[in-house]
Amino acid sequence: MDKIEKPLVIPIFIPSMGCPHLCAFCNQTVITRVKKGVPSAEQFRSEVDKFLGYNNVKKRKPVQIAFYGGNFLGLEKEDIIFLLHEAAQFIAAGTVDSIRFSTRPDTIDNDRIDIIKDFPVSTIEIGVQSMDDEVLAMANRGHTSWDTEKAAYLLNARDYEMGMQMMVGLPGDDAAKSLATGHKIAALSPDFVRIYPTVILKDSLLAKWYRIGKYSPLSLESCVTLVKNLYLLFRKKEIPVIRMGLQVSENFEDGATMLAGPFHPAFGHLVYSEIFLDKVSYVLESDNFPHKTISIRVHPRSISKMRGLKNKNIEILKNKFHINSIKIVPDSSLSEEASEVSDSSHSIFP
Ligand code: SF4
Repeated sequence: MDKIEKPLVIPIFIPSMGCPHLCAFCNQTVITRVKKGVPSAEQFRSEVDKFLGYNNVKKRKPVQIAFYGGNFLGLEKEDIIFLLHEAAQFIAAGTVDSIRFSTRPDTIDNDRIDIIKDFPVSTIEIGVQSMDDEVLAMANRGHTSWDTEKAAYLLNARDYEMGMQMMVGLPGDDAAKSLATGHKIAALSPDFVRIYPTVILKDSLLAKWYRIGKYSPLSLESCVTLVKNLYLLFRKKEIPVIRMGLQVSENFEDGATMLAGPFHPAFGHLVYSEIFLDKVSYVLESDNFPHKTISIRVHPRSISKMRGLKNKNIEILKNKFHINSIKIVPDSSLSEEASEVSDSSHSIFP
């Protein structure tokens, strides 16, 4: 739905490296299953070569090396230079196009940016998480919303592509605060946004709070609705949302990694499905649509979003509006976000 050129990302995990402490919700080692430590030159090269060996890499451009899972600009200066130097060699060889990394807002300052300025870094993602200072304090982040504002100002001035990551369902957070965070993030003009639900990772501080009843996660349903409202907010401001929900990890659902929380392997799909359901419900409600058989035309790529997982949207619409039959008709003349409802004789929702 969002128009942003998607690079093929080669992830290099540096779990919790460069972090001044552990945030309440974090346990990067269990997410990434990578042992703590900066990779050696051999490990780094073999990891990148492994990805470059995959068939689809040759067909896809641009290719980016991404340092994730830690606080990149919080690493020792020598480690930053070492990793960027290694990555830059692939760019010089023409097999990779650029570098990206994620980092805490309070480690973005002129001195740190000066370290990276001669390397081909194109994209910097800021772990914002929230723009509410009480929520940040409860999550043990150790920075404030002001740090994010300063970081955004610096990155915009240096012309980096700037991404922002936010979380919903943090301790002390609620829907109103998350939406206020969304508005504040949008005002900082990021090039893209990621929205992550808070889940309870094994051995995190949040896991301890969960066990003693100090913290409860959002339900999947309320989290999907909240992320949908954030997505619509960013869409209105023309800011692409490139990810909603956590990346699927092999052991995420078996309790070995995650104890509880609104995780779903197709989280983004659930959000888009709810948007389609809302749109069609709105039409059927506002037009007091009396027909027992309806057709909904959508772009072929949006059929499963319109149907919802396991046809959930179809069942909801049938029950709510007493409809006997709903036909989903593919129509590639429509945009991927549009839906058109009709009683087979006329259209009512272009
Ligand atoms: S700064 Fe990021 S990687 Fe480091 S502990 Fe906090 S959430 Fe985890």
